[in-house]
Amino acid sequence: MGGDYFWIRFEDVSIKARISARAKYLQLLVSTEGILELVQPLSCKAEQAQQFLRAQTDWIKRQAHKLATLRQASIYTWPKIESGVFLPFLGQANRLSLEINSTIRAPVIHHCSTTNQIRLQVRNPHTHYDKILIKWLKNAALEQVTQGVADYGLILKRLPTRIQVKQYRRRWGSLSSNNDLSVHWRLIFAPASVLKYVVLHEMCHLFYRNHGQRFYQLLAKHMPEYRDEEAWLRNQGFLLNFPILPTQIHVKNQHSNGDWLSKTYGIEG
Ligand SMILES: [Zn+2]
Repeated sequence: MGGDYFWIRFEDVSIKARISARAKYLQLLVSTEGILELVQPLSCKAEQAQQFLRAQTDWIKRQAHKLATLRQASIYTWPKIESGVFLPFLGQANRLSLEINSTIRAPVIHHCSTTNQIRLQVRNPHTHYDKILIKWLKNAALEQVTQGVADYGLILKRLPTRIQVKQYRRRWGSLSSNNDLSVHWRLIFAPASVLKYVVLHEMCHLFYRNHGQRFYQLLAKHMPEYRDEEAWLRNQGFLLNFPILPTQIHVKNQHSNGDWLSKTYGIEG
């Protein structure tokens, strides 16, 4: 079980600590939600953990500072929905215009990539704007992923059996043993190149199931700059996990034998 955690207050920094039966070492990391986490093996005593934290004081302070700075400058937030607010979409802040149109039955949404505007039309006010927008965003994510799969499919000459967008905690995508390709829908907020990278990454798993040398050779062949996208996810990916609705804030953290994302330890730059 890796689900239970407790908070430690250390030098003005909040650290989420959990005791893990699987962990072999004391470990500090920045989670995919942008939270400093301490993983403590079962056998580790509280004093040992404290000692470890003290030894890492500088690192902890540096990481906490970077996280706070990134958050402040981030376009990745969800505002209270009204006309004129900004929504993140494909790496850009898009101005939302909200219009009432009594002649339409279902909500209509248009995105204009040249003006970075999202136009939402509804029949009457007091609609669940968040729900409508999220549904549209998930759909847009699926469209982008489908397009990416089609593009790379032509080059790679292999296709997944199914394409899905999902909600993940600790990964951005996966390819199942029956070649179902899934991508985290929140990548629709990220720059388009990042989403493309995740699609290509999972499609390279159609050839190699592991993350060995040949896997990365194939990846690099079709996306020479893939390291930039990986770095983006490692350093800023957590920003995509901003809260949208109070009911969607996660309070529990699940342990996962995750994909490449579990390599995340700290943030750079
Ligand atoms: Zn992978």
